[in-house]
Amino acid sequence: MNAQKYVEKDPVIARIAEKKETAWINPYFLPFDMTNAVCQLVVSDDDIEDARKRLDRFASFIRRCFPETEETGGLIESPLAEISSMQKELEKAYDCEIPGRLLLKMDSHLAIAGSVKARGGIYEVLKHAEDLALESGRFTMEDDYARLADDDMKEFFGQYTVQVGSTGNLGLSIGIMSAALGFRVKVHMSADAKQWKKDLLRSKGVEVIEYADDYSKAVAEGRKLSDQDPMSYFVDDEKSVNLFLGYAVAAKRLKKQLEEKNITVDENHPLIVYIPAGVGGAPGGVAYGLKRIFGDNVHCFFTEPVLCPSVLLGIATQEFEKANVHDFGISGITEADGLACASPSGFVTRIMTNLLSGEFTVYDGKLYDYLRLLYSSEKIQIEPSSCAAFAGPCGLLQYEDSRRYCEEHGLTEETLSQSVQIAWATGGRLVPEEIRREYLETYIK
Ligand SMILES: *Cc1c(COP(=O)(O)O)cnc(C)c1O
Repeated sequence: MNAQKYVEKDPVIARIAEKKETAWINPYFLPFDMTNAVCQLVVSDDDIEDARKRLDRFASFIRRCFPETEETGGLIESPLAEISSMQKELEKAYDCEIPGRLLLKMDSHLAIAGSVKARGGIYEVLKHAEDLALESGRFTMEDDYARLADDDMKEFFGQYTVQVGSTGNLGLSIGIMSAALGFRVKVHMSADAKQWKKDLLRSKGVEVIEYADDYSKAVAEGRKLSDQDPMSYFVDDEKSVNLFLGYAVAAKRLKKQLEEKNITVDENHPLIVYIPAGVGGAPGGVAYGLKRIFGDNVHCFFTEPVLCPSVLLGIATQEFEKANVHDFGISGITEADGLACASPSGFVTRIMTNLLSGEFTVYDGKLYDYLRLLYSSEKIQIEPSSCAAFAGPCGLLQYEDSRRYCEEHGLTEETLSQSVQIAWATGGRLVPEEIRREYLETYIK
């Protein structure tokens, strides 16, 4: 693609190409009513509800295989935590104002996979298993799903292979769940993938295939190898609607959590959400689900490292999956390994074009500063990729463009003071102790 054309036309894209921290307000954003009909045709409320019900059906299976989910009755769900100390520390450290209440959605601590991928990744594997089991006639939807963990079913699933390309966390969620069902699993990993993630996968009996190249290459190779094998199923992060649906289920569950905390979301009490984006699937699915429930009262922003703002470029240029950070002279190599996707999902950049409010980009060094601040103020540790979320609440009133967004969308001083802002922590629980210590001591200029 001709990147220069966009750099010359748009000063914000020029800043992005200079790898400077930026707020980008989406010029394609529309009021929810104007998007509703088209969205329903692509991913409908019924589709999301169907996914939610499927996860409910699988609860007894998940509980049986993963006793850690006993407490939530076999649902994989994360806490929504008040982080007022972090809010104050951020305001102090970055001389910014963060109005309203700042909450942390702790998908970093989701059971089984320790990241947001426990939503989409696990959902897609479960759906595939259900499809195979039903087709085989060995299982009906009226059966107790815990039966899927019986030896004969495991043997049945053992004839099949599941493959996926991953920077790490998607591989963990697909790998762990596929192995639990008895599938053979191959995870194609990019050069950015952290060693500990590869080691953990191998310890679960997953075959890890490493590539010297970036994420898009790992996906392309994995897809090709899987397509050659009729018994193999490829989880396609760049295209999958099932992954997206698994992520979207988060929204209804969040609504319930907000209600439990007596938090109202309406015109005078807006919800502002910031989610780190890699290829776009996880933040896209979650944000899409939230828009379907809260409409104009939720404002969804993605956050990306300045070194890999692929989703931003995909939407800003409307070149979608053809956008590639390399064309803008950006390396795509970042400490935020979970966000290191040089090209975004074509499906997600299209479906989010009119729904996403904008993006905030963040320097790699700041990820570690945020990580330390969260740990010292709240005793919560998350991984560097997740920390990108904090660029949102810090940036909202710091940039002229995002301040203008607020003015134009009813986010006055008064409504902002009654708002809830959510930083979506996307990963961290499985990080080994010695790597955690390393993270706390990593400083980058
Ligand atoms: C995968 C991942 C994301 C982003 O998800 P995408 O679907 O790639 O956009 C964010 N944070 C962490 C920790 C991740 O592993």
